[in-house]
Amino acid sequence: MLAEPNRTPYDLNFRVLGFPVRVHPLFWLGAAVLGSNFFDRGGLLLYGLIWIAVVFVSILVHELGHALAFRRYGAGAHIVLYIIGGLAVPWSSVAGWKRRVIVSLAGPFAGFALYGLLYGSNKLNPWITPDTPMPVVMLFIWLLNVNLWWGVFNLLPVWPLDGGQVSDEVCRRYWPRNGQRISLMISVGVGSLVCLYSLACVINDRQAAEWLSFLPWWFPHGGWWTAILFGLLAIQSYLFLQQLQRTDRYWHDSDRVPWER
Ligand SMILES: [Zn+2]
Repeated sequence: MLAEPNRTPYDLNFRVLGFPVRVHPLFWLGAAVLGSNFFDRGGLLLYGLIWIAVVFVSILVHELGHALAFRRYGAGAHIVLYIIGGLAVPWSSVAGWKRRVIVSLAGPFAGFALYGLLYGSNKLNPWITPDTPMPVVMLFIWLLNVNLWWGVFNLLPVWPLDGGQVSDEVCRRYWPRNGQRISLMISVGVGSLVCLYSLACVINDRQAAEWLSFLPWWFPHGGWWTAILFGLLAIQSYLFLQQLQRTDRYWHDSDRVPWER
């Protein structure tokens, strides 16, 4: 999941703030699939393209947040955009768990900063007015939503999201022996809950039920995408946990001196 994809002849390469950026061809496909319902809305190709631009800018800003934090701590980095995510790949490791936590948080907070900039500038000096063309309004709304909610989702303590990395660092700090295992258990639990909640949202919306009416209006609703994504992440964490327990047992057995067995 965190591995960098191989180079292809169809990669788009450029630099931002001195960081090399590589866009894998599957990135465009992933963004298009994620926004597929915007494409077939009356055959408006324009909205589909705006959606892809929103995903591109938002993920790039997120990864730039990580990359700037890496640079702050003396590690260069390059950025890869792939399927529906991105990677900021450091060229050397960052020492110190607090610094690594800041590097992980820097991605979502870069998105929140863009959200604040867009929202704040429009509040101070409205540039979205009743006369603004619809495509620009949609660009504005999607940029706000993606930068806010993807950032919030990314902060959930689910491996390998940014929140999962933070939870791993903190757990290892407090439980040096079992930290990784504990953070994976948290990941399985939270990932499963988000998956179940998203499925409940889908069924609730389909049947126009009222089960979720106790939630405040601003509370995010899940859909098929979040159900599938968090379900897969929970399974991945579970498998990783199993593997860890197996290798742990192996090490414990072989570590023991003969008279201990
Ligand atoms: Zn991130």
